[in-house]
Amino acid sequence: MRLRRTELIIGICCFISGISLIIYDLIDNRKLPDEPEKIVFSPQTRGPSALEIVDMQKKLFADPNTLIPSKTVEAIVKHPESFIRFLKRHNVGLEDIKKIRKALRPYYDKQQLSRGHRFYITQKYKEGQKPSLEKIVFLLPPAKKVVLTVKDGRVEVSKKPIILPKKFEYLKGTIQDSLYIDGLKAGLSRAAINSLTKQFSYIIDLQRSLRQGDAFEVLVERPFDQETGFVDPGSIVYASLNTRTGTEHIYRYAPKENDVEYFDEKGRGIRKALLKTPVQAAPRITSRFGMRKHPIQGYTIMHRGIDFAAPRGTPVVAAGNGYIKKRGYLGSYGNYILIQHNRDYATAYAHLSRFATGQKKGTYVKQGQIIAYVGTTGRSTAPHLHYEIHYKKKQVNPQKVKMPSQRNLLGAQKQNFIAHMRMIRDHVHILKGQK
Ligand SMILES: [Zn+2]
Repeated sequence: MRLRRTELIIGICCFISGISLIIYDLIDNRKLPDEPEKIVFSPQTRGPSALEIVDMQKKLFADPNTLIPSKTVEAIVKHPESFIRFLKRHNVGLEDIKKIRKALRPYYDKQQLSRGHRFYITQKYKEGQKPSLEKIVFLLPPAKKVVLTVKDGRVEVSKKPIILPKKFEYLKGTIQDSLYIDGLKAGLSRAAINSLTKQFSYIIDLQRSLRQGDAFEVLVERPFDQETGFVDPGSIVYASLNTRTGTEHIYRYAPKENDVEYFDEKGRGIRKALLKTPVQAAPRITSRFGMRKHPIQGYTIMHRGIDFAAPRGTPVVAAGNGYIKKRGYLGSYGNYILIQHNRDYATAYAHLSRFATGQKKGTYVKQGQIIAYVGTTGRSTAPHLHYEIHYKKKQVNPQKVKMPSQRNLLGAQKQNFIAHMRMIRDHVHILKGQK
């Protein structure tokens, strides 16, 4: 009796699984011929590795001859390694790797893969056999897609430009720790934070300006590829930073193709060069940087700045945004101001008759803001401004400093920029409302 019951249960089980297999085959066969089933894992959820898939398949199918449809796995480069090693780790056979290397050479000849690069590897898995490679897809920045297809044992490569549809993401946060840590918390990628830091450091001194509670918001544009599910870490199209010195807005804009830069809301490039002539007048250069015979002492001496002759009282302006680091009487320099612009650059102004009111050591000044007036204090024979540019604490020739010149969008470019800025603001407005 007991035996019969067991037999009955086994019988029922066999029947059910038999039907299941038939149903599976029906579904499967319908799909197989022209459109192999694909599993694509979105980057947000890490999919199982190819090995894990094989394992899963083994458990699912007992029949060694069952053909398993091809699977696509997203393989992300976790640490720099060679392409060969990377492919080996993802179960691509040595024969295939050799062919791939050869076929790829004209398109992609990188020996070492960099972290974060994604590959989409499609392979066919057959029980008891090595998986056979069908396709590898990867994106080549900025916008090329490389597709490797294996056909009758041969590897074909196609490289084509792609225009990925874009997703916009609005992120915001407040400074508790640092722009880096709080940026990560807000959901920004490391690359985006680095870019943000770089761009904002053109405008403000991040080390000194940022305080707890300062707010930032960022609009990130993230291209994605529907075929692979690839989502680019994205680039910043807009950002704002609110600090005690005010709110700065930056907009990414390309006046021409492949000419991307960040601009403020007035269409001025945010990469500000230091002013070459920080005097509000038409001054005359009376002494350049270099060796010269000193007018008072008579001997040859190194002149570490530029002298601009200008009437006493002519306004002297800050050559760039920054903090007043020194302000006072300094020996032969007379009345002297030193402005720190960023970690590397500072500018000095000497022989001033007087300083601007309402400023002191530590005051943040903007490019073009009046800081003092031309005079002849200290070791000086006539009213003039002695101007120095310091790079890494050393005086350099202001006329030879290689800093990007500031761009100003004008005419049609400015009109287009304003239209672009309005569109970005609308995007921010909408996405902000959804948060
Ligand atoms: Zn001088």
